[in-house]
Amino acid sequence: MNYNIAVISGDGIGPEIIREARKVLDTVGAKFGHSFSYTEVLMGGVSIDATGVPLTDEALQTAKNSDAVLLGAVGGDVGKSSWYNVAPHLRPEAGLLALRKGLELFANIRPAVLFDELKGACPLREDIIGEGFDFIVVRELTGGLYFGDRWTKEVDGLRTASDTLIYNEKEIARIAKTAFEIARKRRKKVCSVDKANVLDSSRLWRQVTKEVAEEYPDVELTDMLVDNCAMQIVKNPTQFDVILTENMFGDILSDEASMITGSIGMLASASLGETKLGLYEPSHGSAPDIAGQNKANPIATILSAAMMLRYSFNLDKEADKVEAAVREVLKKGYRTVDIMSPGKTLVGCDRMGDLIAAEI
Ligand code: NAD
Repeated sequence: MNYNIAVISGDGIGPEIIREARKVLDTVGAKFGHSFSYTEVLMGGVSIDATGVPLTDEALQTAKNSDAVLLGAVGGDVGKSSWYNVAPHLRPEAGLLALRKGLELFANIRPAVLFDELKGACPLREDIIGEGFDFIVVRELTGGLYFGDRWTKEVDGLRTASDTLIYNEKEIARIAKTAFEIARKRRKKVCSVDKANVLDSSRLWRQVTKEVAEEYPDVELTDMLVDNCAMQIVKNPTQFDVILTENMFGDILSDEASMITGSIGMLASASLGETKLGLYEPSHGSAPDIAGQNKANPIATILSAAMMLRYSFNLDKEADKVEAAVREVLKKGYRTVDIMSPGKTLVGCDRMGDLIAAEI
């Protein structure tokens, strides 16, 4: 089958890491009998240079017409680049926000996987890590505190500010479904995280999540308060499979989860909407400090491409193969500079891509 992928290489290390992800995808295609067609889409600084804006309407339309979008990273050196001497809505990162909004992506998926071979990079004690952990944070992306009414004014002579945490049952049900569908492809456990002992929005969250769970009798649902979850992630991370939570809690917990995996160069992510069309990108930025030097770790982007195979194309076997290839290359001792340790073999971005492709 043929899949149309809109590819946004972007800025900085973007083109280098995307090149390696495409190499791996093409190898998967050749081995499993699929073809991937790529349409290059300009976004970020490169788009500003070419068109004057970070994302044109045509570029957004190309992304909308594709089966999935694979993104490297956008942005430059904020202190130095001329891309930042303009209004915020014309800066590189504004393209990303416009893309997420235009594609109606409401679910952010961030896996927290500790690879056995990189245990040394994890700040947690070995007895806590055990055999390693592998969980996913599913964060609601378009509702809650970040999108509710807000104001700052003087009330009774005091400067006062207010933000509103608002969710309706439809918004909760659709993100819950995303979490249950993902859990079905994994160990079939959803832990829904809220603050139901205090917040009305959390009580509704808990109720609606339970209702959705009835459609997924094969998946186990548990609830956890967010303060406890923050502790459990560092105390016993192996207990989690899929963590489902609202926007702000997810913002904080997904960063906490990514810290315990050790390296930013390994962290994949996906943003999903109601259809199969998703946006897949590494969690890191465009790393202008190492751009063009063949030093970037392409693994986060390659693992994001694996998520694309799994969640947009339903190619689970192929995604498993890519993830296994990454593990195998790490096991053989190959490392990019960000994850290098004594006794291992240092390789550049392109060689890391070659090695992973060769394992497939
Ligand atoms: P960054 O993630 O780009 O870099 C932080 C540090 O991690 C740097 O030292 C960098 O060299 C290193 N690093 C990041 N990815 C790496 C990789 N794959 N391999 C090896 N080392 C890696 O964050 P930053 O420096 O704060 O931001 C740089 C630019 O990226 C800014 O313009 C920022 O706005 C943008 N940004 C874009 C995205 C995105 O496109 N989604 C996300 C975050 C930041």
